[in-house]
Amino acid sequence: MKNLLSARAKAIHPSPTLAIDAKAKEMAANGINVIGFGAGEPDFDTPEAIKAAACRAIENGQTKYTPASGTMDLKKAVCAKLLRDQGLAYEPKNVVIGCGAKHVLYNLFQVICNEGDEVILPAPYWVSYSEQVGLAGGKPVVVQTREADGFKLTPAEFRAAITPRTKAIVLNSPSNPTGAVYTRQELQGLAEVAVEKGILVVSDEIYEELIYEGEGHVSIAQLGPEIKELTFIVNGVSKTFAMTGWRIGYGVGDPAIIKAMGDLQSHSTSNPTTFCQSASAEALRNPPAEVKEMVAEFRRRRDYMVDRINAIPGLHCLKPAGAFYVFVGLHGLIGRQLKGRTITDGDVFAELLLEQANVAVVPGSGFGTPEYFRLSYATSMERIKAGLDRIEEFVRQIN
Ligand SMILES: *Cc1c(COP(=O)(O)O)cnc(C)c1O
Repeated sequence: MKNLLSARAKAIHPSPTLAIDAKAKEMAANGINVIGFGAGEPDFDTPEAIKAAACRAIENGQTKYTPASGTMDLKKAVCAKLLRDQGLAYEPKNVVIGCGAKHVLYNLFQVICNEGDEVILPAPYWVSYSEQVGLAGGKPVVVQTREADGFKLTPAEFRAAITPRTKAIVLNSPSNPTGAVYTRQELQGLAEVAVEKGILVVSDEIYEELIYEGEGHVSIAQLGPEIKELTFIVNGVSKTFAMTGWRIGYGVGDPAIIKAMGDLQSHSTSNPTTFCQSASAEALRNPPAEVKEMVAEFRRRRDYMVDRINAIPGLHCLKPAGAFYVFVGLHGLIGRQLKGRTITDGDVFAELLLEQANVAVVPGSGFGTPEYFRLSYATSMERIKAGLDRIEEFVRQIN
């Protein structure tokens, strides 16, 4: 049967979280109390006002097809949000609605990449970027950022990675997996390079509301008309409004790119779910008060987790300014042993941690940085405390 698969399909790497996740689920099914730090979604419920808006939409008959690229109402709500929050003026022709930000990114790479076009990915990067670029025939060019730079790409590193084949760069601030947030000044330096070289900036801003310090979220598109022209913003309602299952995301940028994405969508998914679009418009126009409470709770958990990790000999992490992840380095444990096995990287560490202490974490290899692992704090404070107790005890046994 293997001959039935295309070369394209065979080149897909399954999500690296899956192996650990499958094992953790199997252990849980066998009655083992596994504590999972793998969550990639808020543990809060969707705010009531948004649910009510969806129910109203269903009752009003919003259950049929909409235009493939999304409703005019939601596109206008996206424009109003960008004007209100970022001071950015766009029109509905600059907006496409997709089935989640992930879908928007997928379609974007499909319409911008020719075979061999290079897309620069600062590492650690979100796992799907490289797969999506590859599926579009593009070539991911991974640039390793340094922990000493806060895992942020410098303008010099950006410039050095550019070749005649460079089509785009992907920026993700706040970042998954590091939680890094670029400042306006840092973005300014990158914008200057992008404008000089004419590189499209794909700005994944899905965590924009989840920022715990500093000046808050800045979109690189805010830094002047030239960079705005070159920026393609990707965002959605999943993380901000705890709406991961609703599958609504949006892309904002050049009308020709937007039109091509809409055309592609018209032959694949067609429109994102109709009543979810109505509810998302409501969420963007009237952000519920629950968002602030969620941010305050995430901040509390982050502070606790960072302090606990840095108190464990052999582990270290930066204090992330945003998102809901802590990216932990295990350089202090590399080469050491437990149960006859040598810890060579995050993969071995995560496997042993799950087997020996029943704690699931995501190894850094899938993000392009094998000597790290990712902890999510989108889980209760109680679970976080219990899980960190186990990690501390586990690390103590390594010799
Ligand atoms: C969660 C996530 C997305 C995708 O979110 P959707 O649910 O598809 O809207 C995109 N980028 C990053 C970095 C994410 O963590």
